[in-house]
Amino acid sequence: MPQATAKLNAFPVFMRVEGEAVAIVGGGEEALAKARLIGQSSAVLRIIADAAEAELLAFIAANGAIHIAAAYDAAHLEGAVMAFTASGNEALDRRVAEDARRMGIPVNAVDRPELCDFFTPALVNRAPVAIAIGTEGAGPVLAQMLRSRIDRMLSPSLGPLASLAASLRGTAERLLPKGNARRRFWSDFFGGAPARAMAAGQLSQAHDAAVDLLLSNAPASGHIALVGAGPGAEDLLTLRAHRLLMEADVIVHDALVPETIVAMGRRDAERLPVGKRKGCHTKSQAEINALLIELGRDGKRVVRLKSGDPLVFGRAGEEMAALRDAGIAYEVVPGVTAAFAAAADFELPLTLRGVSSSMVFTTGHDLKGNSLPDWAKLAISGATVAVYMGRSVAAEVAGRLIEAGLSPDTAVAVVENASLANRRRFHGTLADLPSLEVRADLTGPVMTIIGDAVAGANFERSEPLAAHRHEGAAQTAAEGAER
Ligand code: SAH
Repeated sequence: MPQATAKLNAFPVFMRVEGEAVAIVGGGEEALAKARLIGQSSAVLRIIADAAEAELLAFIAANGAIHIAAAYDAAHLEGAVMAFTASGNEALDRRVAEDARRMGIPVNAVDRPELCDFFTPALVNRAPVAIAIGTEGAGPVLAQMLRSRIDRMLSPSLGPLASLAASLRGTAERLLPKGNARRRFWSDFFGGAPARAMAAGQLSQAHDAAVDLLLSNAPASGHIALVGAGPGAEDLLTLRAHRLLMEADVIVHDALVPETIVAMGRRDAERLPVGKRKGCHTKSQAEINALLIELGRDGKRVVRLKSGDPLVFGRAGEEMAALRDAGIAYEVVPGVTAAFAAAADFELPLTLRGVSSSMVFTTGHDLKGNSLPDWAKLAISGATVAVYMGRSVAAEVAGRLIEAGLSPDTAVAVVENASLANRRRFHGTLADLPSLEVRADLTGPVMTIIGDAVAGANFERSEPLAAHRHEGAAQTAAEGAER
């Protein structure tokens, strides 16, 4: 059916109920469910139940509802703005519906659509903001699924932010001419500093920021969120990261962040890839810092999207320092780092009682110097070692650790494209690790985890690393000879 011809058979409206009576007939679970739903409003609940169950009685007491503990009578509906009947008794429900209709009160009979004047929505409540979801005949499971999906998308601070907006509306209308200026104020209000302060629970700062916006003609101040995109799977993105992506004016992302995640951002956000895949730096770190500062000064809401966690081998330190020096506001949103994703793919306990109680995040690149880095000692004393960017230094890492006293039999797990459908897993020992360097078939990002705790992983879905050991050793020797 073409979309244009699809019509709603029930049209959503918001009914004024503040201080008004809403009648509910019934004493069981269904009546309680309706009482809970209507109890999210400022209506006065009037519950007509001669035999109310304990839970309903507790709700009535806790919520200051009126309880008419008598057999139903039409007079009980008098003055109500809506009526619900959830008696569980068809004849009684029908009677209530007929009485209500005769008295001009819209009525809803639970589970009896043929008796209903209206249906109740699944509700996302951020009072004063409400999102009502109706699915007509498609059923409550769909409605609840949509409800929780929408609920996750909306900041918990939306309610207080909307209340603040309501309190400022008159002033904004007096001070700002209708049209662009007013529209820009509200867009900066809901997407800028006032919204951020409210999200941090700072009500008075949010108010002050809004007043600043109202009184100054200055363009909105920019903001950079350094956001962890996680290891690659879209559903490992955090809800906060997703929300910021949906609000962004500009998304500045690394090459390692998959297109599917960048595409989760606001459709009309500008997308700026800044490269940093091995061997193809499209922008230097200094250029990236300058770009972020420039976007911030232009008043943009920027998401600086980095793979994994932004604070783990993500050069976030340099970007934060540059932003601080330039006086640009920023925040950091953590993400699932590659080591955690790889461990999950291997069902590998990173800490294991009696085996490993500490963990090292390293690149292994510091093993090239003359003195061993401190973490090598930790590895020898049982720490689990996660090696980022370790493919090209695999032989160095293995060689130096063995030289330092770590057993060549120490277990090693390797995951390419952790968390993604095309991931590959390999297991072996430290002695097998050098083979990694010369495998041309590993083109995705690779995480290596070394340590006794790795022995606790699940090796059912992994290939042995050793299969490539000899070939690897031969090639390494050949490369060595060339140098
Ligand atoms: N900030 C990122 C790390 C960036 S450094 C994080 O917290 O994960 C880039 C290195 O991370 C890659 O060389 C690789 O070692 C690792 N990495 C990132 N994503 C990965 C993935 N999906 N699978 C395996 N390793 C990954």
